[in-house]
Amino acid sequence: MSDYPHLLEPITIGATTLRNRVVMGSMHTGLEDGFWDIPKLSAYFAERAKGGAGLIITGGYAPNVRGWLKPFGSQMSTRLQAARHRSVTDAVHEHGGAIAMQILHAGRYGYTPFSVSASTRKSPITPFKPSTLSTKAVDRTATDFAKSARLAQKSGYDGVEIMGSEGYLINQFLASRTNDRSDAWGGTSEKRMRFPIEIVRRTRELVGPDFMIGYRISLLDLVEGGQSWDEVVALAKLLEEAGVDLLNTGIGWHEARVPTIITQVPPGAWRSLTARLKPEVDVPVCASNRINSPEMAEDILASDGADLVSMARPFLADPEFVNKAAAGRADEINTCIACNQACLDHVFANKKSSCLVNPRACRETTLVLSPTRTTKKVAVVGAGPAGLAAAVSAAERGFAVTLLEKSSEVGGQFRLAMQVPGKEDFAETLRYYRRRLEVLSVEVHLETRATAELLKGFDDVIVATGVTPRIPSFPGVDHPKVVSYDQVLNGSVTPGRKVAVIGAGGIGVDVSAFLTHDPADDLDDWMAHWGVGDPALHVGGLKEKKPRTSMREVHLLQRKTTRIGKDLAKTSGWAHRAVLKDSGVAMVPGVSYDKVSDAGLHITVTSPDGSVSSEVLDVDHVVLCAGQESVRGLYDDLAAREGVHLIGGADVAAELDAKRAIEQGTRTAAAL
Ligand code: NAP
Ligand code: SF4
Repeated sequence: MSDYPHLLEPITIGATTLRNRVVMGSMHTGLEDGFWDIPKLSAYFAERAKGGAGLIITGGYAPNVRGWLKPFGSQMSTRLQAARHRSVTDAVHEHGGAIAMQILHAGRYGYTPFSVSASTRKSPITPFKPSTLSTKAVDRTATDFAKSARLAQKSGYDGVEIMGSEGYLINQFLASRTNDRSDAWGGTSEKRMRFPIEIVRRTRELVGPDFMIGYRISLLDLVEGGQSWDEVVALAKLLEEAGVDLLNTGIGWHEARVPTIITQVPPGAWRSLTARLKPEVDVPVCASNRINSPEMAEDILASDGADLVSMARPFLADPEFVNKAAAGRADEINTCIACNQACLDHVFANKKSSCLVNPRACRETTLVLSPTRTTKKVAVVGAGPAGLAAAVSAAERGFAVTLLEKSSEVGGQFRLAMQVPGKEDFAETLRYYRRRLEVLSVEVHLETRATAELLKGFDDVIVATGVTPRIPSFPGVDHPKVVSYDQVLNGSVTPGRKVAVIGAGGIGVDVSAFLTHDPADDLDDWMAHWGVGDPALHVGGLKEKKPRTSMREVHLLQRKTTRIGKDLAKTSGWAHRAVLKDSGVAMVPGVSYDKVSDAGLHITVTSPDGSVSSEVLDVDHVVLCAGQESVRGLYDDLAAREGVHLIGGADVAAELDAKRAIEQGTRTAAAL
């Protein structure tokens, strides 16, 4: 008996039978945009189909030029474009999977000067003001969706998903926030719904009864002027009548000021909304957003909260997610930690997606861990993310690997990161690596300090000795009030009520969140702090935010005069800054550190207007988060030897992040 009987049960949607209830949700990777990347896209989907995904949904394809996400972005509107997709659909079918193409019209989210929308209202996240689609152009656009679906059908897709959520064009028609039209496509809520209904109706007409039509419905817009719950339910029923076979669910517009999928969102946060929609319709309903484990997915299905579960990023992290769960090897799943660092942050920076914990994602044809034909002995020194990735990847290739770590546990900087509120999932990455070390029979020596002497018998040595916190030099830096971030996060120091944090990079921000966070907060508090309300009572699901109770008074300081947190990641930085602001953290740029004394931290602040003032922050502790320096003693001792590789923070400490560390570890092992 499987641990996941509901998850692994087949389901028939329209005329298509899926082998299980797991949907690999749509995720734009950048491989969709150029025909030359089609072989890579096929290989990427083939691995996921081989890994057991029931239904794969592609990244979004625009139904016409005006629907582009970016100039020359992905599009499906010609027979030539359709012909190129055959290798994608064949690759998935060869492995027993089904595949649907998502049709996405970006509307005012199009990063082009010729974007269009229901009105001329500009989005706060793009620089371009859209033009209003004329009454006739709306009609033509609805037909373009249907034609695009027909082309997908000709390319061998099992169905399409019409993207009606996340604030794209269809959502822009549905909400009064963006639709103030007075023609047949706006005015009343019924008229605002006409656009998606027409799209589905015309699509069904063109593709016939057997082709699967899915629709991604926005359950919670999380923007002012969004839809009410009654409108969402009415739309779902009308879509069903118009011919959809499957309702997938979406949460929040991209411009919403509530995080919906990043790591600080509690797993399963939105599942109750899908459960609420399910009894309103007869077609299958799919749960999505912030679901990353087979346990959670199974629980949603077993509790009748959905008919299917969609996971997008978890399939970047581990293409074999389903097969591992089915084979009783769920403890070997490489869990998506919802960091966005290598997937969505890449997409928003116009780069190809990959995955922080699986750098092979979207690089299936170029980053290959091929079996070795040699019998080299490989030593990896340091069991942080870089060393773990190198050891596991080298062992996967068939090398005899020994991993040496000076502390009593593996994990390095990740062991600190997982202490940060909202980053608990980082522990899953360490669980994954620990299990892989076991499965691959890597010889692990903890509490072992590697020396040149000890490493003599190895053919290759990968040095991943990591970093040490930087200690700045100013008077009083050795005062008992001064501690380093690792002491705070590993629990060896419990800071007092009033704290100054020196350095406002990723770690300074994390430490400030750690210091102010109320550990008693649960999911209801999380919703309340972000102002998320019942959509039946609050339009768009937004209400007034409940103030946060801060556990400490924190001053977050930096020398630069730029805005604090300016360089944090695009898709998550704004949310981290908002939490600190709501927690009352005083964020002060332009600081110079004069000294630390019994009275506290003495600083001089240069304000944006150029005025200079001095003050003493009466704090109990000063936490240093001033970056790191490489630990390279061993590498220097080995430098004269052949076959020595330096990776991770030991290689470059500046702006080290786990994405670079894990990728470098994997690439080094791939090149051995
Ligand atoms: P960091 O991003 O380099 O920030 C360290 C900060 O310390 C700098 O912003 C710098 O700001 C200050 N600093 C540097 N030298 C100093 C000195 N001698 N005296 C006083 N202040 C000094 O390093 P980090 O915060 O340790 O983060 C390490 C890496 O982990 C980064 O790549 C980061 O992206 C990643 N990370 C990211 C996140 C996230 O995205 N949420 C979270 C954790 C870690 P000033 O010079 O302006 O004072
Ligand atoms: Fe998940 Fe982070 Fe990988 Fe994206 S980069 S798939 S969020 S682990």
